[in-house]
Amino acid sequence: MSNENQVKHWHVTYNNIHNLIRKNCPKIAVDFNPDLLVAIGIGFFPARVMRTFLREATTKKTLQIQAIGLSLYEPVEGVAEEKIAEEVIRTQWLGAEAGKMLLGKRVLIVDEVDDTRKTLSYALTELKRDVETELLNHPEADRDALRASTKFGIFVVHNKNKPKLAALPEGTTYYSGEEVDDVWLDYPWESTDIEEHDRLAALDVENAASATKKDV
Ligand code: 5GP
Repeated sequence: MSNENQVKHWHVTYNNIHNLIRKNCPKIAVDFNPDLLVAIGIGFFPARVMRTFLREATTKKTLQIQAIGLSLYEPVEGVAEEKIAEEVIRTQWLGAEAGKMLLGKRVLIVDEVDDTRKTLSYALTELKRDVETELLNHPEADRDALRASTKFGIFVVHNKNKPKLAALPEGTTYYSGEEVDDVWLDYPWESTDIEEHDRLAALDVENAASATKKDV
């Protein structure tokens, strides 16, 4: 998508997403080999597809998928409008046993898009905090080893190439299905007419191809 700067919206199809995940899973299975997937909201759909391909690429293990809900842009009941787009709001979490669930695991966080990175940064910071809370239940002598055995990774279907407004904790493994320009991605699950959505997606590809030809 490097020559598509003039495209403000880009329609992404279910098949595009499925294939991006398929392409990336063999590498993720070898390099990171997650044993738990944590989906951020919409990330549940890519995470479910990912489970299929990771099962193929690993020892046929069926990964558990946990979901957390975070909102940066969407209106949230009881939250002042001026806070939206500024602050990440927690709408769903892992429950009281969060730290126990995460400790000693290789946890892959799955989301559809990394835009400003605020959501991913918040998710990582908070999940690490849960791990630290759980470590207090373990003898001090064991804590460093337990902390070191807990690994966090991220998979996003799309990463937008743009300046990020938040950083990820050091040592976070990061995968993106595809690097894209700073366009607005229209995802298939937001559409009420999937055939029209797919038609617009095909048109985006056509327009981008003819723009590339003109550039040559
Ligand atoms: P962040 O700015 O924290 O990286 O992304 C926050 C959230 O904004 C994402 O999880 C996603 O819900 C939404 N978002 C950001 N960019 C896009 C986009 O291009 N298309 C859609 N549909 N949602 C987006």
